[in-house]
Amino acid sequence: MNIRAIVSHSPENDEARFCMEDIVLRETQGNELLVEIVASGICSTDLFFAHAAGGELGPFPRVLGHEGVGWVRAIGREVTVAAVGDAVSLSFASCTKCKACISFHPAYCHKFSAVNYGASAAYQRAGGEDLSGYFFGQSSFANYSNVLQESVVNISKWVDTEQDMYNYAALGCSFQSGSATVTKLASVGTEDSVVIMGLGAVGLSAIMAAKIQECSIIIGVDRFESRLQLARDLGATHVINTIEAGHDIAAAVKSITSGTGSTVTIDATGFMPLIKSGLDFTANKGKMIFLGVPPLDAEMNLNVVRFMATGKSILGSMEGDAIPSEHIPCMIDWFKSGKFPINRLVRTYKAEEFKLAMTDMKSGLTIKPVLVWK
Ligand SMILES: [Zn+2]
Ligand SMILES: [Zn+2]
Repeated sequence: MNIRAIVSHSPENDEARFCMEDIVLRETQGNELLVEIVASGICSTDLFFAHAAGGELGPFPRVLGHEGVGWVRAIGREVTVAAVGDAVSLSFASCTKCKACISFHPAYCHKFSAVNYGASAAYQRAGGEDLSGYFFGQSSFANYSNVLQESVVNISKWVDTEQDMYNYAALGCSFQSGSATVTKLASVGTEDSVVIMGLGAVGLSAIMAAKIQECSIIIGVDRFESRLQLARDLGATHVINTIEAGHDIAAAVKSITSGTGSTVTIDATGFMPLIKSGLDFTANKGKMIFLGVPPLDAEMNLNVVRFMATGKSILGSMEGDAIPSEHIPCMIDWFKSGKFPINRLVRTYKAEEFKLAMTDMKSGLTIKPVLVWK
């Protein structure tokens, strides 16, 4: 069928190249659902992949987009997760068979790259050239997509209005990654003092989740005053402006935590100086969690003996270790009860305005841009 999609082409002069194009979607196969995409969130990972390709990172040209919601219009013969007419939320895919998948940790699937970064031909352009799809099993930067069953969560019973769909658009990655990192991976409790560095959609979701868990101290760290204010509104008990704190964020955290440091530190920036500082100000026996993506060649030196004596753990967060079919309904439940006001992070744009939406996300003007496809 003929569809519209934002096609990602190989970058030129390190500039990502996106283009809205009319392309042809191939027929829906056995394990796929044809989804009419209502709205798709833009995540920084899309912009990362628009600059990177080759090997495990997949080829150009392709259709990105890994947060979306839509209506099921057709299903393949093997599909059981949803039926025609259902509303679905789209998240990451997993192989379902490896050791991580069968032990209920699909975000750490041993085949995560192969399954999610998509190299299979899913579309054709007018000239007959193949385009890749299946990005995170969904490639939701399009008005229709064939989505892998493993990426689909049925949310029909929680959709009351069109606005619900816009608010739910980013549940599949940003909101899930931030909140599940707090509730599942870090498994925080009331005694915890949590630092969250980087207050975009991921970091602010983490702030809201820490409030839901009633953590005694919740510290938001960012360089934008507007985001720090929003973090306060959403549950941060303290905020640190990195520009004002200069190089001494560690001192600011220690002063708030009576000299102990944070029991859980979550980095959602991928900025190495902050990550190094975070590991330093994390309390003994505390957890340092990597969630933001640094440059691919980023490395860290560690004095092993000194680190050993602290008893700290370093954890890598992939989607917060969430199981989407459990965590997405949980987030919707929080949202409906007013505890997870993701509507305050979302700004909608017409799909054609995707370049403006990306610019606004990069400048910090918009926390979570959501493209509306109708
Ligand atoms: Zn797996
Ligand atoms: Zn993402």
